[in-house]
Amino acid sequence: MAKLKIKLKRNLRREIMRGHPWVYKEAIEAPASAPKAQLCEIADPKGELAWGIYDPHGPLSLRILSTEKNPPTPTFFQKRFHQALDLRKAIRSENTNAYRLFNGEGDFLPGLVCDLYDTSAIVQFDGQGPGEFWDRVLITQWLLNHTAAKTVYKKFRRGDNKPLELLGGEKSPTEILIKENGVTFKVDLAEGQKTGFFLDQRDNRNYIKSVSAGKSVLNLFSYSGGFSVYAGAGGAKKVASVDISKGAIALAEENWVLNKLSGHGHFGFAADVFDFLKNQKDLWDHIIVDPPSMSHSESQKTLAKSKYIELFAAAAKKVVPHGEISFSSCSSHISFGDFSEIITECLSQSRRRGQVLRISGQGPDHPFPHACHELRYLKFAHLILD
Ligand code: SAH
Repeated sequence: MAKLKIKLKRNLRREIMRGHPWVYKEAIEAPASAPKAQLCEIADPKGELAWGIYDPHGPLSLRILSTEKNPPTPTFFQKRFHQALDLRKAIRSENTNAYRLFNGEGDFLPGLVCDLYDTSAIVQFDGQGPGEFWDRVLITQWLLNHTAAKTVYKKFRRGDNKPLELLGGEKSPTEILIKENGVTFKVDLAEGQKTGFFLDQRDNRNYIKSVSAGKSVLNLFSYSGGFSVYAGAGGAKKVASVDISKGAIALAEENWVLNKLSGHGHFGFAADVFDFLKNQKDLWDHIIVDPPSMSHSESQKTLAKSKYIELFAAAAKKVVPHGEISFSSCSSHISFGDFSEIITECLSQSRRRGQVLRISGQGPDHPFPHACHELRYLKFAHLILD
């Protein structure tokens, strides 16, 4: 039995039974003493209803683990790991060896993220509480026994001075080559953004490949050239990548060459996108705009929306008549509804009309609970502009 019992102050039984994964601090009676994150039994006046992770550190006090009668055991968690692995069967192949294996709440493994990059697994915990709760030895052993992983690293969050910690397996290079839909990318697991690569855009990148033949493509916020290389592989006649990070642009150039796309045809610009667009005289057949998150809280949303509108409109003005634009947003506070409003306003400001060809989001290795649309964070739209 769990030692800790947490009582709900509000009636959240329905939400929890429907699969909502979180309970905030205001909604619980704080326990007398529980300095570390730990397993707890959750109860309301009607009785016990779920098991969860109690986290004393932040506003998100409870993450639901299960609504079963008995407490979760190591075997229970291993079963969930297997379910997550099975779910990725359709993604894993000779051509794709990098994917997200555990997507936290989306795989009923709250606060636990694991990305597989060929034979390296990168584990991340979403905050201090999940870091204290999850059993690293159990996870590491399971990964080494059941996946292609020969090395398991824990990746620290931004701001930590040590990027990787070896949790198990053999120490291996942190600059590696991965394959995604047959396209090769160099990934820097230690210094790269997120866990090294933006795996969530895989399907959208593949889509870009299918619509790039013969076009000039401008990839804004390119990072290591994900969309650029796919556009090149799809036969684009000219591709430019713009990112503020010099390292990202160097990697984009390297990735272009790695895929045996001719040395010509790709132009990398280490620049601020806003300045770049101001000075840009050329018009492009297709512009891709995938900025970093602009809203980190609900209170920043209004400001973030106006920033997106300004950015998207500036880009739309640089598209040829009957050209194309792809917008993306990874802010979890911007819903698909907000995203649609942003595009409407951007088209109005740039005096263009849009014909939508595709609306999509994160790939199926980034599942989310239907009861928690906040975790459906990635939005992507491809339009033709008149
Ligand atoms: N499209 C990429 C991911 C983009 S992530 C992919 O599919 O892999 C966002 C990128 O924007 C980061 O690489 C970051 O360095 C860059 N960035 C942030 N602010 C910027 C700015 N003002 N101008 C240009 N690049 C910027």
